[in-house]
Amino acid sequence: MLIDAHCHFFTNSILADRLQRDTKNILKLSKRLSLPVNSPIVQGAAEFLITGVENTPEEMYEYMKQSYGCDFIAVPLMLDLTYAFIAPEQESKVSTIKKALNAAKESSLPEKYIEAIEKRLDTFERSALGIDVFKNSYEKQIESLTNIKASMPDKVYPFFSVDPRRDNEFNGGILSEIKKYVGRSKPFAGVKLYSSLGYSPTHPVLFGSGKKQGVYAFCERHNIPVTVHSSIEGFSHFLDKTKIEGDVYYPEAGKCVPAEFLYDEGIIKYENNMPTKDFESITRERLVLLNHPVLWRKVLEKYPRLKIDLAHFGGVIQAYKYATHDKSSFWPEYIIEMMDDFPNVYSDYSCYYEQGGNPDYMELIYKSLYKNLPRNAKKKVMFGSDFYMLALYNMTPEKYIDNFRKAFTKDFKRISEDNPANFLGIS
Ligand SMILES: [Zn+2]
Repeated sequence: MLIDAHCHFFTNSILADRLQRDTKNILKLSKRLSLPVNSPIVQGAAEFLITGVENTPEEMYEYMKQSYGCDFIAVPLMLDLTYAFIAPEQESKVSTIKKALNAAKESSLPEKYIEAIEKRLDTFERSALGIDVFKNSYEKQIESLTNIKASMPDKVYPFFSVDPRRDNEFNGGILSEIKKYVGRSKPFAGVKLYSSLGYSPTHPVLFGSGKKQGVYAFCERHNIPVTVHSSIEGFSHFLDKTKIEGDVYYPEAGKCVPAEFLYDEGIIKYENNMPTKDFESITRERLVLLNHPVLWRKVLEKYPRLKIDLAHFGGVIQAYKYATHDKSSFWPEYIIEMMDDFPNVYSDYSCYYEQGGNPDYMELIYKSLYKNLPRNAKKKVMFGSDFYMLALYNMTPEKYIDNFRKAFTKDFKRISEDNPANFLGIS
């Protein structure tokens, strides 16, 4: 059966209330006035938000199934965004203010005092950007993915996500959360990590320290697949400084180095920040420092049998550069080497929207980033959509899969059935 190894079923529970409200209002208004929304960017953003605000995971699955024209297995990846807009150290301030607010409400303080505390809480809870696009929805994502797994157990294999900085928020730490939710006969089939949200791939909770077992050791021992974002594009946290435990990539040396060796107390002060810098340069800086392939190689050197998907193969922009021999391509090469050196390193082609104004871009990617791969690497590349992120690039799932089927022809079965079935450990 067709497997989409990388997609998302984020529902409105992940979007902040304000944004949900605003989006609904804007959509209603634009429908009523029948505003001409000609710009592809506006159309893409609208499509993205409509999908997220208006659809349930079941409806998203159904829509993809219609688009793919067949039954399929979805691998929806969860995302723990708790600290994307607020640092753990700020979080404790927030809880102090919340306590003060509750106490104030119970006492007979005048309304204006309560309002002042509420206002203070609001500014804290909102991001450093002053906007809160996403709110944390950890429990809600677990709930909605657990429900869809229960209703279609053979069609959906969700991946569980948790930020290692939250270890002491759970009784028994993050590992106990993972043991509770992930594994055979559990709702989640694997673990998803997104280190550019503000932590190192070698964070001690993941990597292990001293005698304490980390997440990777557990996953390696139990053959639990781990999917990590591995692209120069994507998402990151937006804080202008973060304390990092573990290694960061040190561009001058081309190595990974413990953050505390490079920065005072391990606190990175980023160069690209809101509001002066754009989304792309902000995310790129954090993606390189916290998510460079060299960091993942260090993880694999300690856990060589870890089953890991270095998702996106560097991202479509890097992949297309690789395919067209552009000198600024570097990320895919690192991934290919790791796929060759370690038995369980996978990658996926997800969010592969059109490049270079070339409608045949996928043929070039097929030739260079599939045909030319070492034999054992070919067994470990997977088809993925990144639905519904694709909507941002005005790419429908129909068109997307069609591009793959045309470019990969008979090899499409390998990347969309055989390889991902091995990754998931299903026959
Ligand atoms: Zn994704």
